[in-house]
Amino acid sequence: MVLGRTSVTAAQAPRPRSDGDAEGLIDVLIVGAGPVGLTLANQLGGYGLSTVVVERGASLIDYPRGVGMDDESLRVFQAIGLVDEIRQHTTPDQYLRFMTAKGRCFASVEPKTREFGWPRRNAFVQPLIDKVLLRGTTRFSSVKVIFNCELLDFAQELDHVRAEVRDDTGKIRHLHCRFIVGCDGGRSTVRKILNIAFEGKTDSTRWVVIDIQNDPLAIPDAYLHCIPSRPYVTMALPHGIRRCEFMVLSDETDEELCTPQGLQKLLGAVLPKPEAADVIRSRVYTHHARLAARSVPGARSSPETPRISCQSGRARAITVAYAMSAISPGNSPQSSAAWLLRACLKAMSRSAAAMRRP
Ligand SMILES: Cc1cc2nc3c(=O)[nH]c(=O)nc-3n(C[C@H](O)[C@H](O)[C@H](O)COP(=O)(O)OP(=O)(O)OC[C@H]3O[C@@H](n4cnc5c(N)ncnc54)[C@H](O)[C@@H]3O)c2cc1C
Repeated sequence: MVLGRTSVTAAQAPRPRSDGDAEGLIDVLIVGAGPVGLTLANQLGGYGLSTVVVERGASLIDYPRGVGMDDESLRVFQAIGLVDEIRQHTTPDQYLRFMTAKGRCFASVEPKTREFGWPRRNAFVQPLIDKVLLRGTTRFSSVKVIFNCELLDFAQELDHVRAEVRDDTGKIRHLHCRFIVGCDGGRSTVRKILNIAFEGKTDSTRWVVIDIQNDPLAIPDAYLHCIPSRPYVTMALPHGIRRCEFMVLSDETDEELCTPQGLQKLLGAVLPKPEAADVIRSRVYTHHARLAARSVPGARSSPETPRISCQSGRARAITVAYAMSAISPGNSPQSSAAWLLRACLKAMSRSAAAMRRP
């Protein structure tokens, strides 16, 4: 399925001319239409760079995911001209209350300030924000988002990167770009192809995550119940949605917990009538916290050479930001990446022009 006004099939995407003229090249190929890839696409669109986003899925991910965003995220959305639309799907200044097993609040995080001009903690519903970001790309004729298109492999040629993708008909195609940026999540294909390892260890925990509409509790803020037998979280989200997360115990299986009866049993700890809960989405997820060892593998320092960059995993964990922080301090990973890509592309065209001069 192809979504969005600017979406194209892989066959329609720009291709290099056989004489090697760079005109047909895509400036930037982004792998992954999650929030990181789509934000970067909006930024590059603003710069007028030709950008193609390839997304393996048939549509945006819709299972329960992010619920809390900070002021820096809003600053980034302001920079790409989408903050007003995005704020319609946020609740500002959400408190986090940490509760003992007996129901006493022993700690509370109460953000009230505006150091960067925006509320410091905002509840949100990720699928709604991702949709705004996708719609945002349609403002730019230079940006294409291709669904059902999986990156399989890529290689650096002399003057560009050649990417092999499988399109929605199952055909293998090649896209040619000046830069490829991996925004393909924690299990990033780009990271694996580049043989970039995760550093350190992760103390993973599994959680059943449930979003309910027509919030039966209708109380604001987020409550983290530190109950040794089963910790759980419940929080108010925008549009009358309630998020509940329950830790999975070592002897429990996903299958038994995710049946309607299993979900009802869990929700019984939170809701007066769990059988009446209007569940929108639910899923078991395993929480990991890890950093990729490198973000720009084997990149040569000359701006004339094409580069391959990897922005995988959580936006916070994107090491590109650290690599680029010396250049544009205070910027987000995506805006730093967009800034650097634009600078490199400008330098590349200057140097190509100089080489053409007699
Ligand atoms: C339950 C839960 C709660 C969370 N809570 C929060 C929170 O409160 N705050 C917060 O900031 N974050 C939260 N997160 C994390 C947040 O969801 C992720 O950090 C965020 O989605 C990462 O964005 P991304 O764009 O880097 O990757 P993703 O959103 O994972 O997107 C990557 C995309 O790449 C695509 N892809 C992968 N491989 C390929 C390939 N080979 N070819 C083409 N496409 C490919 C995938 O299909 C996917 O659409 C939560 C996550 C979960 C699961």
